[in-house]
Amino acid sequence: MPADATASPPSKAAGGHIRLTSHSAGTAAPEIVWGAPTAALRGPIVGTTANRSHRNVIGTHSGAYGVYRALAVAAGSLSRDHRADLTNTSPTDVFGPHPQWGEPSAIVSLDPWGAMVAEAFADELAAGIDIRPTIAVTKAQVILPEISDAILRGRLRPDERVLLSTGAAQVTKAAIEPVWHLPGVARRFGCSETDLRRALFEETGGMYPELVTRSDLEVFLPPIGGQTIYIFGDPRGLADPAVELTARVHDECNGSDVFGSDICTCRPYLTHAIEECIQGAQRGGVGLVAYSRKEGRALGEVTKFLVYNARKRQVGGDTADQYFARTECVAGVQDMRFQELMPDVLHWLGIRRIHRLVSMSNMKYDAITGSGIEVGERVSIPDALIPADAQVEMDAKTAAGYYTPGVTPDAEELRKAKGRELDA
Ligand SMILES: [Zn+2]
Repeated sequence: MPADATASPPSKAAGGHIRLTSHSAGTAAPEIVWGAPTAALRGPIVGTTANRSHRNVIGTHSGAYGVYRALAVAAGSLSRDHRADLTNTSPTDVFGPHPQWGEPSAIVSLDPWGAMVAEAFADELAAGIDIRPTIAVTKAQVILPEISDAILRGRLRPDERVLLSTGAAQVTKAAIEPVWHLPGVARRFGCSETDLRRALFEETGGMYPELVTRSDLEVFLPPIGGQTIYIFGDPRGLADPAVELTARVHDECNGSDVFGSDICTCRPYLTHAIEECIQGAQRGGVGLVAYSRKEGRALGEVTKFLVYNARKRQVGGDTADQYFARTECVAGVQDMRFQELMPDVLHWLGIRRIHRLVSMSNMKYDAITGSGIEVGERVSIPDALIPADAQVEMDAKTAAGYYTPGVTPDAEELRKAKGRELDA
């Protein structure tokens, strides 16, 4: 059992505010005041496992990869005491601070100060506290066959600034680890913090006892995938509502995004969004793709492939009217992505207005606008980019309320089998 789990019961200060220093005798953990307006007042996130008395969170760094780190320790290839040498790792571009960083409920699932820990917490680092960045920012060039094709067809023109004649697009990109403020996450989902903590504890097989034994620890580093953002054009334009922003929030789909599977529209929509982002940046605006690791509607690939088989083997074949039902039969829900946390990354970037949202999802649209960000135009995927086998998904989604500038299919249309058979 972790040492922290044997600590004395937590005590809460007046007004529900929790003082980490007021419990578990001898702890040297810095206090976290979530949503405080400066890094110094907010305090560092300390997820190190090397010195338990410094820890002020539940869980540890690297999301799902924390388990691989444990394996490396178990295998004897990684020293438990390794401290990251952060020389030359600082962000290529500085984001914020933005006003949203100081609103405790605006951002609840990432650490807005996560990219600048080396400067913001220099004193604590010098004092020997192992504080790690939860956000890293770098620059890259991305080369995609769809973008090269768009150049060949004359839809895109290299300008040697946003898009090079080699076909490479210049990007600024950031990787973001999940950092959950449990009271804020509970509020987003309309449940009590106690119920959230208990479900997280029980449904991970009791992986984090502190969820139920340490109510004073309000921040959880969950063992899940994070997000990556790709920015086209000058990132400083993101927070300026007067600068045209083209944006897509995309959920991971390994089968289509990486391997080109044709049962869904994920990669075509992603590359279409990148084309739109490049065009927007060339008009003097900025483009953003926020990519979330939520494979298969956050159900995972095993469930996703089971659903594919169930869809294609059902009586009558793969039809749009059974699209959501087949998922629910296997998974128990139609979708587990819960877009409630998705807008956090947009608020981290200081975004107030998205001029062109490249998405048809009503769930994403509702989450973004519900969080206070204005959305201008919604950009749907051109029909020519929809693979034949993906028409079932497209019909089912538009019938269920996804945005479409075209005709919403009726009940009869939804019953027509359009998906390919498994052995076709
Ligand atoms: Zn997909």
